[in-house]
Amino acid sequence: MMPWFKRVEKGIITPTEEKKETPDGLWYKCPDCKTVTSMTEHRKNLKTCVKCNYHDRIGSKEYFAILFDDNKFTEMDEDMSSGDPLNFIDSKPYPQRTAETQRKTGLKDAVRTAYGKSGGRDITIACMDFAYIGGSMGSVVGEKIARAIDHARKTRTPFMMISKSGGARMMEAGFSLMQMAKTSAKLALLSEEKLPYVSLLTDPTTGGVTASYAMLGDFNIAEPGSLIGFAGPRVIKETIGKDLPKGFQSAEFVLEHGFLDFIVDRKELKQRLVDLLGMIMPATEETNGTAKTQKADKSS
Ligand SMILES: [Zn+2]
Repeated sequence: MMPWFKRVEKGIITPTEEKKETPDGLWYKCPDCKTVTSMTEHRKNLKTCVKCNYHDRIGSKEYFAILFDDNKFTEMDEDMSSGDPLNFIDSKPYPQRTAETQRKTGLKDAVRTAYGKSGGRDITIACMDFAYIGGSMGSVVGEKIARAIDHARKTRTPFMMISKSGGARMMEAGFSLMQMAKTSAKLALLSEEKLPYVSLLTDPTTGGVTASYAMLGDFNIAEPGSLIGFAGPRVIKETIGKDLPKGFQSAEFVLEHGFLDFIVDRKELKQRLVDLLGMIMPATEETNGTAKTQKADKSS
């Protein structure tokens, strides 16, 4: 008898493009509790662990899909991209790093800004992307956030910032640091005009971002388990020469010490946001009415 595994016909070749490969990332293994789930299930759960609720990092694409009704929004300053004011070179020249990162991530910089409706209410949202040079804050990040705040002011809509950042961008040095003042000044204007600002801190939110816009919200909220801090734990430990308490710089620790208003599960984020804004802002129709009245007042 012929062995069952013997190939009878010779020369059967499958062209490379027809070969079926196991798709990448078909399964997700939680880095915390090691539970394995299908990627479909993981996505359905908004990339939080089904067992321990570990919040996996996501980007602006996912946050926009979660928050904007039917994932419909208008993006602002989509093509804004950074220059190289300092002719900065580390392991490679900055323009080369920019080009490569843009190609790899499909992003133009570390923040995306958009407006649309959330729960039927107009809102302007800026969301950082950690995949773009560690979500670092450079001139483009600062400028896009500043313009998004201006848009919120112009349309009298609430502003939401979703931070996820390693801090200021080294390649733009001083120019990065100036963004802290610029965004803070714009937020002060937003506040003067009595428009709400909700700041969501996600894993990780550190450095100059924590020291500026991330902590300036009327509501500073965070995802569970996020690392939130200014300097890293190692630097602090070396500076003060003491061991740090357990859970130091976790969202829960920061909440307990009074720097956050509440922690929100990603699966409840949209509803919590809608409820929160519903309490402090009148309904959309009324808001539009107010804007029109105010314009009329100014022109008269
Ligand atoms: Zn888990």
